[in-house]
Amino acid sequence: MKSFLGIDLGTTHSLAAIEDEKGTRVLVPPGADSPLVPSVVALLEDGTFLVGTAAKNLSILHPERVIHSAKRLIGRTRAEVALEAATLPYRLVEGSGGRALVRIPLKNQSFRDLSPEEISAHILQEVHRRALAALEAEGRDISDPSLRQIVLTVPAYFDEAQRQATKRAAELAQLEVIRLINEPTAAALAYGLGERKQANIVAYDLGGGTFDVSVLRVQEGIFRVLATHGDTQLGGDDFDRLILDAMLQQIENETSARPKEDPQILSQLRLAAEALKKRLSTKEEADLEIDVSGDGTLEFNLRRDQFEEMIRPLVERSMRELRSCLHDAELMPADVDEVLLVGGSTRIPLVTKSLEKEFQKPPLSGIDPDLAVAFGAARQGAVLAGQSEDVLLLDVVPLSLGIETLGGTFAKLILRNTPVPCSHTEEFSTQVDNQTGIDFNIYQGERELVKDCRKIGSFKLSGLPALPAGLPRVAVTFTVDEQGLLRVTARELRTGKTASVEVKPMGLSEEEVRRMVHESINKAGEDMSAREAIDLRNKAEGVLKGTEAAMKAGGKGLPPEQVYSLKKAISRVKKALGNNEREQNTLALHQALEELSSLTGQLADDLISSAVSTALKNEQENKNR
Ligand code: ADP
Ligand code: MG
Repeated sequence: MKSFLGIDLGTTHSLAAIEDEKGTRVLVPPGADSPLVPSVVALLEDGTFLVGTAAKNLSILHPERVIHSAKRLIGRTRAEVALEAATLPYRLVEGSGGRALVRIPLKNQSFRDLSPEEISAHILQEVHRRALAALEAEGRDISDPSLRQIVLTVPAYFDEAQRQATKRAAELAQLEVIRLINEPTAAALAYGLGERKQANIVAYDLGGGTFDVSVLRVQEGIFRVLATHGDTQLGGDDFDRLILDAMLQQIENETSARPKEDPQILSQLRLAAEALKKRLSTKEEADLEIDVSGDGTLEFNLRRDQFEEMIRPLVERSMRELRSCLHDAELMPADVDEVLLVGGSTRIPLVTKSLEKEFQKPPLSGIDPDLAVAFGAARQGAVLAGQSEDVLLLDVVPLSLGIETLGGTFAKLILRNTPVPCSHTEEFSTQVDNQTGIDFNIYQGERELVKDCRKIGSFKLSGLPALPAGLPRVAVTFTVDEQGLLRVTARELRTGKTASVEVKPMGLSEEEVRRMVHESINKAGEDMSAREAIDLRNKAEGVLKGTEAAMKAGGKGLPPEQVYSLKKAISRVKKALGNNEREQNTLALHQALEELSSLTGQLADDLISSAVSTALKNEQENKNR
């Protein structure tokens, strides 16, 4: 029986699951005690790679060779990960196109630069290798090529660049991605919620490094994501760091050791902090003996209530994200039918308590929060392999997509939170006479002007017929596929000339997505007036051009005083246009334009009546003959 593997490529852990006649289950190879593979890769001095637990263990001795959290870097530039760079123990450098690369020292002062895709490929390979070992132990023929086909999950907030890069990682691992699905959607599938007649679902995913929250709706077998929010800088690692800080404080207060300067000790303490944190999820109190070189041992003790006070601001931050996500989905907490826990950090009692308080009902339990995403991916794998009844998955576009138009305004073709797959076409034209090529600049963002949005690609449509401005008709189509990948096509309707681009933009962090959405709300008023000013300029330029052309063509018959007042009005508009550029003096331009328009209205009337009187005169003369 054919079924595709589901793989959860996490920031801290990754794992594989499958759904077949034996049911839905995670894959654990013989001898291993957990399906989770730490998403950690190490590169040894001689160029060999270690992956998973072996790599994680090396972080105590050689933290500079151990790469964790590669998912935070994937599809992003060095500049974009500046914030992360400060907290990562390995070195980041800039590769071609500004991409973030990890630099690991090798023998003889040489080094090797690894891309996040390459690092993720090693993790995927290891997860896949273990999955095959587990299946082989069950007696399955692992030469079956369909076992190289996978459903892979990504955070709902991943943009095109991050999704593309994740797919590339799978390709590097020689795996074929049948479908990329969003992690929260996978979690809801794991709970079988696709079969509900109607339900509103909140998936709250607090992992090691990232936080994601999504509101999903199931209706008559159709499954859609109403809204997603997140924070790439929030997760269990932050809780570990808070405990670590408390440990360091105590060590510095009570001993002469200065562990902050020793990366090895720091790594060791970090692992100890994580272990302590996990114990506090089931115990009220936990302690730890810390070996302090030269100073004997030190007892570090932490109670759950102390830990909760430490992390409360972070948990509160996640709850604020949750509320704005609900707001985007236009739901009240009481409208939510099920709350799903995803990610290892949701084992922390304060997290579940906070959610229960918010929704006045306990979150759904039953599936291990570490495994839910992989489970759901495996379920989707079975669906796509034709083994299971189809559930329609509808994810959403996280930021509006569109093109730059005249004067730097942003024409949105696909709005934020539109379910995917989706497609939209709009007609545009040229701005200058005899223009034979159009440059299309593609942006994502919520603001009205492209300068406040993010450029994600560009292309040129050339070979257009030389026609007056406004005559060529160019249909621009934006298509976002199931995987959230964008394709933009422009087609000139008279000639059929077509150009298109698959957008492989540089990445955008969740933080930036959030900032852009918030800014679009905060600056809506300001944006609208800026946009109006530009629209007004465009209109004024059009009216000027038209009036001057009309005067040239038919102005001879106009009485001199009318020509005089027209010229005066024209120069007033031109002056206002000049000022408008500098001072944003929209009002003056508006007035000047009104005045000119009323005169040109007159001009048009006069031109028509003079044409009519000419026609009448001709007719009269004809009659007289
Ligand atoms: P990701 O999806 O980012 O890879 P996971 O869902 O695997 O993350 O969650 C990993 C995080 O969960 C780590 O920070 C880990 O310390 C934390 N975690 C795992 N188990 C527990 C627990 N019992 N109590 C508290 N935190 C836990
Ligand atoms: Mg996860």
